[in-house]
Parts: sequence; structure tokens; C-alpha cells
Amino acid sequence: MNFIKLPQLVDRRGKLKSKGTYSKRTTSITHRVWHHSLTKKNLAGSTADSFAVYHVNTLGWPGVGYTFNIEPKNVINTPNGKRARIVYAHDIDRRTYHVGNSNQFSLGICVAGDYRYDTMDDATLASIAELHAALVKDGIGKYDKAHNEMPGYSWKACCQYNYRDAFDWKGSKTPAKPAPAPDVYTIQEGDTLWSIAHKDGTGGVQVEDLIKANPGIDPTKLKIGQKINFGNAKEVIVQPDIKEDDKTSNSGDETIRSIQKTLNSRYGTALIVDGFNGPKTKSSLIKALQTELNKQFNKKLVVDGKWGAKTNAAIVTVQKGAKGNLTWILQAALYTEGYNPGSLDSIFGKGTESAVSKFQKAKGITADKKAGKVTFTKLFAA
Ligand SMILES: [Zn+2]
Repeated sequence: MNFIKLPQLVDRRGKLKSKGTYSKRTTSITHRVWHHSLTKKNLAGSTADSFAVYHVNTLGWPGVGYTFNIEPKNVINTPNGKRARIVYAHDIDRRTYHVGNSNQFSLGICVAGDYRYDTMDDATLASIAELHAALVKDGIGKYDKAHNEMPGYSWKACCQYNYRDAFDWKGSKTPAKPAPAPDVYTIQEGDTLWSIAHKDGTGGVQVEDLIKANPGIDPTKLKIGQKINFGNAKEVIVQPDIKEDDKTSNSGDETIRSIQKTLNSRYGTALIVDGFNGPKTKSSLIKALQTELNKQFNKKLVVDGKWGAKTNAAIVTVQKGAKGNLTWILQAALYTEGYNPGSLDSIFGKGTESAVSKFQKAKGITADKKAGKVTFTKLFAA
């Protein structure tokens, strides 16, 4: 096995959080399926350990869903240069959960990070390229697919990095976002749904996606010049029935989940506790801030979760020594932006001060270590 010899690979089989074991595959692996975690790559939660805790405790799976977990935040110095750590989590022959009905023949590989926003660094690209090359040499799998190129998952924003460019990485180019698949295809001589599905450049459309996308069409009677829809054309996306083992294959961040729970219980926001920092979590934090400004400083703001001039004008400066809910909101906002204050303890101490200062420097504003109007605006304005 070549993959096991990669210097950045750490064998943690049997050492991550688990509850029971995954059963053995009854067929061999044909697909290598590439994922991203949707957690920002520098956050504490972007590790195999965190994914394992989430998959076991929250989803009730036997263990982490991915056989290989690439961790951009854990860089290892190897004889070949800096490499992102690869955590080897399960024997190759275990049928782990990550693509629902396709688990049986699919190997799950997750690159930690949220590549809607994160950029991929060289150490991570190198690890993807080298792991891929080793798996090819070892004969593990024949095809590479992104999560959303697997049947039933065309709706999923995974993996959001161009994995094919990463395989060719030679230290020069940054992978671009994959080009969106075209919506409509014109039938050419000799085409069948199968041949169309396997054409290059269609973004990995599957035959069953095409059938779903073209309800009235008889696949045996295609005519040259006829136009058909691609399976990932927006209006035809069908949400599959969600079963226990394919609810999600991505892991949220533990701390973001606890922020979401606190927002729900303290401020009555109705957030889904998924550990992902999205626009709803941000607007709930603004609601919390507006509520506290009204309560503590009699500001009479409309609690609408939107950042506007009135909210900005009502901001009071939060600085070292402060305690209470405003400090908690500041800590939570810093954390979700990737600036960990250490703990979300509602006390403005050293950790919070250093997170504020790092955030201010990164945003190019005066690094006075106090959170006032400018800092809150950078945290909350869209
Ligand atoms: Zn995925």
C-alpha cells in the first residue's frame, strides 16, 4: 500500500470517537468521493476528531463518516515540504456513511474547510494530490467524484473546490471553482442518456439524474437536435428522502452549535443547531445584540436582525473588564469569524482582547483592542 507510506498520514484507526463499528463492504470501491467540511479551515472544529464526535454523538453513526480526513490547520513538515495532515480513520474495506445509497462502493475523503469562503493553501493541495496519486497506484477506486456528483446529491454544495485541478497540482496554480454544468444539452448523433452522462465537462451528471430531469422523455427514442435538461438544472432538483445515514455528511463546529443553542434559548431565535456559520446565525447574533442594547441601555431598537445605521449608532464600546451578555455576543461573533477568544465565558479577558486585536489588524482598522462601532460594524455588516 502506497498511501500508508505518505509522511503526512497519521494512522488513527480505532482511536477516534466511535460507537460500534462500520460493517464490511460487500463490493469493492469504485468511487473516490471528495468532500469539504463546511467548517472554516482554521477553526478548532476542523479536525477528524471533531467530525467523529459530531457523526457519533449527533448523527448516531458508528464513527466518523470519512476514511481519510485532510486537516489544513495541522501542518506537518515532511521531507517533501509542508503538508496538511491526513488522518486515516477506518480500514479501507469499511462501508462508512457519507453518500447514502452509494456508501457501499464509495471511499469518503474530506478536506476540512469551507471552500465557499476559504482558499486552499499549498500544503493542503499537496496532500490532496499525493493522497490521490497513492490511491490510484494502490488501485483503490476508479473514478473521482465530488459529493454533489453522486446520485441524489446534486443539490449539495459539496465540495466547492475543483478537486481535479488539485490532483494535477505541481505547486503553481490555485484550483478554480468548478464551472457550473450547463442546463440544457442538444442531442447529437449516437447519443444515449448513458453517453451524455459520461461526457467530459458535464459536471458528472448521472443517468438517473437525466431521467429525473426529463420526465416526458423516452430514453430509447432520442432525436438529433432535441434538447434535454441536465439533472442539476435548478428547477428539477428533487430532494431525496433523507435517511438516517445520509442526513448530512458534513460536520458542524461544536462551539458554533453551542452558540446556536444559547441564541435559541436566550433570545428565542429559531436556529437549526447544525454548527454551521451562515447568514441566519449572523442575523440571530444581531438580534441578540439589539435585544441587549434595548434592555441594558434603553435604546428602543427594532429587533430585526439587520445591521443598520440605528443599530450602529446605538453601539456601546465593550472592552477589557466587561462582563455579561454583550461580551458573550462579541465573543460568539469573533469565534464565528474565525477569531477564537479562548472561551465564550462572557468575560472580556486576555483571550477576548487578543481575538479583538487580531480581528482589527486583519480588517485594517485601528487595533485598540476595544470593540466599538467600527469593530462591531466589521463583525456584523454584510
Ligand atoms: Zn460532502
